[in-house]
Amino acid sequence: MTATYRIITDPAQVAVADWAAIRDALPPGGHLAVTATPAQVCAIEDAGFEIRDSLLVTAPASLGRNRSVVLARRPLAGTVAANVLRYRAGALNIDGCRVTPTGERLGGGAEKQTTAAQKGDPGWTRPWMDDADARDRHAATVRGNVAKASTLGRWPANLVLIHDPSCQRTGTRRIKAITGTNSGRGAGSKATHSDVYGTYAGRTDLPAGAPVGLGDADGMETVAAWACVPGCPIAVLDTQTATRAGAGASRFFPTFPTLADLDDWLHTLLSPPACEVPALGTKAVAA
Ligand SMILES: [Zn+2]
Repeated sequence: MTATYRIITDPAQVAVADWAAIRDALPPGGHLAVTATPAQVCAIEDAGFEIRDSLLVTAPASLGRNRSVVLARRPLAGTVAANVLRYRAGALNIDGCRVTPTGERLGGGAEKQTTAAQKGDPGWTRPWMDDADARDRHAATVRGNVAKASTLGRWPANLVLIHDPSCQRTGTRRIKAITGTNSGRGAGSKATHSDVYGTYAGRTDLPAGAPVGLGDADGMETVAAWACVPGCPIAVLDTQTATRAGAGASRFFPTFPTLADLDDWLHTLLSPPACEVPALGTKAVAA
């Protein structure tokens, strides 16, 4: 089976890479994640890749400190959905790479069903805000997204932090787990606007809005605990940003013990869906 993505993080391999050959070996929508200099990024783009995003990896000085991982993609054949169905390439496994939830109550202002008149500022008003049904659908979508972020974790961030090799994992600690709500259509409902697919599809055995989450029966969740050495990027960030014990800003970002764990995370992000992908958009076509 043809590989649907490539990851190249060894500078020696990046230096001699033939980007056009790598592009041709990938299917349409195939991703390339590479530790590249700006000149190398230009060469990747010249070879016919789209530069999609970049990731700043902050590692301790002993591991070479900072590097940039560029995410490129061979152009799609048609829409993302059509491309994924045909080639199993072109999408990212966001749910597999979310930042572990920390028990905070996340919110989205757009849950409120604000009308255009209430919004006031013309720069932020949209015609659909005067349609009650459209406001309802939008609010339901936002509630579903917030519930997903609360239970599955935050969207994978573009900043990744690596512990110093001398940091010690000291065991685990217990934090208060968030209880989210069932984000799918739920039993008996006809609404489809907040459905998701794959491992984290809304549960049809529970009503929409039923409590779901990562917590144990006592409402707590177990996460890794670390004793960091001075200079560890995670400790530095938390020292600068902690407002209460254990609540520094590193909780907003993917954090890994080693650079090898970063590679594992990239493999998860770019891997084709393990499940059968439903034929997205077929309803719209048939209508
Ligand atoms: Zn550390």
